[in-house]
Amino acid sequence: MSQYDVIIIGAGPGGYVSAIRCAQLGLKTAVVEGRETLGGTCLNVGCIPSKALLHASHMLHEAEHNFADMGLKGKSPSVDWKQMKSYKDDVIGQNTGGIEFLFKKNKVTWIKGYGSIEAPGKVKVGDTTYDTKNIVIASGSVPSSLPGVEVDNAQGVVVDSTGALDLPKVPKKMVVIGAGVIGLELGSVYARLGSEVTVVEYMDAVCPGMDADVQRGFKRILEKQGLTFVMGAAVSGVDATKTKAKVKYATKKAPDDEQVIDADVVLVATGRKPYSEGLGLDAAGIKMTERGQIATDDQWRTNIPGIFAIGDVIEGPMLAHKAEDEGMAVAEVIAGKHGHVNYGVIPGVVYTTPEVATVGQTEAALKAEGRKLKIGKFMFMGNARAKAVHQAEGGFVKIITDKETDRVLGAAIIGPAAGDMIHELCVAMEFGASAQDIALTCHAHPTYSEAVREAALACGDGAIHS
Ligand code: FAD
Repeated sequence: MSQYDVIIIGAGPGGYVSAIRCAQLGLKTAVVEGRETLGGTCLNVGCIPSKALLHASHMLHEAEHNFADMGLKGKSPSVDWKQMKSYKDDVIGQNTGGIEFLFKKNKVTWIKGYGSIEAPGKVKVGDTTYDTKNIVIASGSVPSSLPGVEVDNAQGVVVDSTGALDLPKVPKKMVVIGAGVIGLELGSVYARLGSEVTVVEYMDAVCPGMDADVQRGFKRILEKQGLTFVMGAAVSGVDATKTKAKVKYATKKAPDDEQVIDADVVLVATGRKPYSEGLGLDAAGIKMTERGQIATDDQWRTNIPGIFAIGDVIEGPMLAHKAEDEGMAVAEVIAGKHGHVNYGVIPGVVYTTPEVATVGQTEAALKAEGRKLKIGKFMFMGNARAKAVHQAEGGFVKIITDKETDRVLGAAIIGPAAGDMIHELCVAMEFGASAQDIALTCHAHPTYSEAVREAALACGDGAIHS
């Protein structure tokens, strides 16, 4: 007889959420996790620590730039970096400890150590083999680097996101390679803390995959905040000593003209790759995609019966909430119920100030499909609440609808609390709502959400405050 109904490998947002849902559905569940604490990349070295540092550095920015204007006088705070890191570690501890509590509450067993799949229904951890009816692989992802660039987080000069969350000191000069979400979030943390930050990006725009007007608007705001961008530039290598580095690059326009930027710290933020080392996938005969992800069907089944996979290790956006949704859905499937994830409505958020949030398809993608669109845009300059908190400049809400039916197909927000406001549009999309449905919904005043309503009004007869 099997010891468990389900063994999940990895306790990130995919694995731990799946475990709790499995237990709630009456399945005897264990999670194998090799890290010292639960919560995976997200809670330990990802979403949560980065948001703690974003918050602390935002507070400093407010004190330095906006307090005096609001009549709050006095010396601005100075940065006690050791204390800021200890605050961040405390936030991590509260959250990872919270998952341990939830495991106990739901009677989920934590098998400590790194696991491998001996055969379907058999997971080996250390010298022990556990029997289980089902296995869910939720082993996540790790940072990927560039050829010619060697990351050494312990040295603290050429680092990935994990190293950047724990630098020994705030660098004078930082070069960020890659203008994606992680690079821009951490780059803006250090820019606010006083570093001179240069972002080097191969593409011609920040945040690949967003609409061009959102990319342009966002980059302009970050430039105003002091970040410098070198766009269309390929990094060929980084020469590092124990304390400094030189980043070598050439732009696509002048590929033979090598340029060099000096830095105290180089953050390599060129993306992440699925992680499945040591799991024994080859021996188990589990099929992979060409991009090194575990191949699954639309019910998260691998090609081997009884073995499922979810989260960053499979296809799709590498986001905690996508992993969580798959975690819940696969639990339902294993319990013989219906599990579903709507991949068309997964929001993406950049947690800078202002935040940037998107959902659904972009204008460019929809136009490429030949769709006829109506677009409503509303600038935060017309939103009283955003003006009151110094966050009106440059931001906007953009709603993309089908010209015939008025149905919401996508949206983007650059503005205060964009990452929270986007959910109104997510719910609208899930319910197949039209822009008019949003426009006819009473929105409290004064709120940032009024900008969403105004953008919806702009899809019809026009916004009021623009
Ligand atoms: P992971 O969180 O990577 O967890 C996998 C776990 O599996 C790990 O703990 C690992 O130790 C364990 N494991 C692997 N192999 C084994 C094995 N053989 N045996 C036992 N254990 C094993 N996403 C967002 O949605 N919002 C954000 O704001 C955000 N910010 C981020 C900021 C940074 C700096 C980074 C790096 C990432 C961020 N992400 C964010 C991405 C997010 O962290 C990931 O999408 C998410 O953690 C993926 O969850 P997962 O469960 O698939 O895997």
